[in-house]
Amino acid sequence: MDELIFLGTGGGRFTTLFQSRATGGLIFNTSGHQIHIDPGPGALLRCRECKVYPFKTDILMATHSHIDHVNDLNMMIEGVTNAATRKRGVLVTVKEVMDEIVTDYHKNLLKEIIIVKSGMEVKINNLRVLAVKCSHLKSECVGFKFYTNNYCLYYTGDTSVYPGFEKNFEDVDFLIANVMRPDNNQLPHHMCTDDLISVLKNSEHEIKLVIINHFGTIMLRAGAENEAARIMKETGVKTIAAADSLIVKLNDNLLKK
Ligand SMILES: [Zn+2]
Ligand SMILES: [Zn+2]
Repeated sequence: MDELIFLGTGGGRFTTLFQSRATGGLIFNTSGHQIHIDPGPGALLRCRECKVYPFKTDILMATHSHIDHVNDLNMMIEGVTNAATRKRGVLVTVKEVMDEIVTDYHKNLLKEIIIVKSGMEVKINNLRVLAVKCSHLKSECVGFKFYTNNYCLYYTGDTSVYPGFEKNFEDVDFLIANVMRPDNNQLPHHMCTDDLISVLKNSEHEIKLVIINHFGTIMLRAGAENEAARIMKETGVKTIAAADSLIVKLNDNLLKK
């Protein structure tokens, strides 16, 4: 059964620093793989709390080098490699993360490192992953689209809406959108609720489930659940707000239509 486990749902400096939401990233279990995406501060601890066994992770992915996405990346490499005893696992990330975050010691532990740029597609066994363009500060950042046999899952990473952004939605069944702020409270290089609403309205494709994620302090004050409800009301697309420790069974949602 394919599933998502939200180890953390916080984003931005203040949420991260005060851990008003955890920042451990996301586990995606699919196609025989345990994928850990964006292991930010506390990822290791959150694995323990959510009963996610780091030795079982075989793919690590990091969208960009900001600390709320990569703080525990080297630590999780030690998990993937069975406490640095086996050359094992795949890391998929951008060059900036390799240059600035991953130590040489940890690079050498991994079986494979795949450096991606937006538009690049990689295949790991029977899982196809497309790196998708982000517009996010000066940082080199990508989102990821995962193509399994049954569906497409798109994790936006940190991005603002750029011209043509809605084209990324054309074949998506499940969308995890990093929506940092509520209403039309725009923060450069990120999405707010109204940004996502306008993109969903511009897209003719029907997404089965939208999960908003990566909440800043203003979003938490407004209530991410309230924002999810408004997205659903205004677009007609089923939308939920991610919560720490939330598990989403993807096939169940696929069957419900
Ligand atoms: Zn972030
Ligand atoms: Zn960022």
